[in-house]
Amino acid sequence: WIARDAAAVWHPFTQHAAWTADDPVVVDRAEGPWLWDVDGRRYLDGVSSLWTTTLGHGHPAISAAVAAQLAKLDHATFLGATHAPGIELAEALVALAPEGDGPELTKVFYAGDGSSAVEAALKIAYQHSAQTGRPRPKFVRLDHAYHGDTLGAVAVGGHDLFHEAYRPLLLETIGVASPGDRALGPDRLGTALSHLRSVMDEHGDQVCAIIVEPMVQGAAGMLDYDAEFLRAARRLASAHGALLIFDEVATGIGRTGRMWAAEHAGVVPDLLTCGKGITGGYLPLSAVLAAEHVYEAFLSRPGDTAPRTFFHGHTYTANPLCCAAALANLRAMGEEDAVGRAARLGERLGKLLEPVAAKDGVVEVRRLGTMTGVEVAPAGDRTGFRVCRAARDRGVWLRPLGDTVVLMPPLTLGDDEADLLVEALDAAIDEVFA
Ligand code: PMP
Repeated sequence: WIARDAAAVWHPFTQHAAWTADDPVVVDRAEGPWLWDVDGRRYLDGVSSLWTTTLGHGHPAISAAVAAQLAKLDHATFLGATHAPGIELAEALVALAPEGDGPELTKVFYAGDGSSAVEAALKIAYQHSAQTGRPRPKFVRLDHAYHGDTLGAVAVGGHDLFHEAYRPLLLETIGVASPGDRALGPDRLGTALSHLRSVMDEHGDQVCAIIVEPMVQGAAGMLDYDAEFLRAARRLASAHGALLIFDEVATGIGRTGRMWAAEHAGVVPDLLTCGKGITGGYLPLSAVLAAEHVYEAFLSRPGDTAPRTFFHGHTYTANPLCCAAALANLRAMGEEDAVGRAARLGERLGKLLEPVAAKDGVVEVRRLGTMTGVEVAPAGDRTGFRVCRAARDRGVWLRPLGDTVVLMPPLTLGDDEADLLVEALDAAIDEVFA
């Protein structure tokens, strides 16, 4: 399989994933938090298969819902047609939407993955500015942000490794210091806040949206930050007539111990993107939750000379199998109190990681709910990659993000498995720093 893979397959982020490129795991099957390779070796899936398997692999209720949907309706266009799974899922998402300071989120626009949800949100924001006043061509983004790999999403990213190669092609953005950036020193919140304020004072009338990953910049290495930044971003966006976009592709669907990271701050954005865990990892689907006032700007009015339509939508938008999987996942999450369990699992991981945090070579352990990063040193020396490889030899699948080792297990991971996860990490660190 490995030779055939090497001959025919171009993998995503190929060089970046060099720690596995020589001998990738050939995954054969999965169940709960476990993966098996073709040689029958078992691995604990400590990163929920790239942060998606909310309740683990092979959840019976989700599998049954997808099978039932498959027997009934496999696909139908959402262009000029609709269907029960698409409607019911939108109703469920609206019912679950965060509440607090900000507008009610009342409409759901479907997309295919995290990047395409971000892409849709950026286009909505720009078009909204044009249709409610005049076009505002700029986006405010945070340093170290990751919002996906389509060109719009790349433009609002702040992670040079992924973005620098495409700079000449990108939208106009203004980068702001991140409140999660440890390099800013102890008052990183104050530094980021004053930077955001001065950018909005100077350029606010040019800005259609501020986009942030709320509470934690995930792909940057789980850089968590203070909720006050989000409250200030809400006030500043409203004061300057810009939209606030929360990209909850990573933080949403229970990951941080709340349904949405926005709830930690009591703030509601105008647009909220979600993806990853929404179908429980079964099928690709994402969505933009939009405030009613945003949606209204896209409704035709008497006397219009140009259509206000949102010119966006894909062949597989709201595929019924994907919607059925997401609906079953959200229902099962409610029945199993998955969000409460995520909060408790996060606390357990935090306790188990206390001795790890004190080890030589460990710079910092960062965590919000189950979103966990263990930063190791020396920086830039592939230390994170080596720790993950050593953990893999012990049957635990982790993921390096630069110098940070990520732990992001299914929300319902059992106590024994959480112990195993941290024990393997602990032993892997010992091996690498021996
Ligand atoms: N936004 C955030 C916050 C993400 O973490 C990611 C993926 N890591 C994306 C967007 C892009 O999602 P996808 O890979 O599904 O396109």
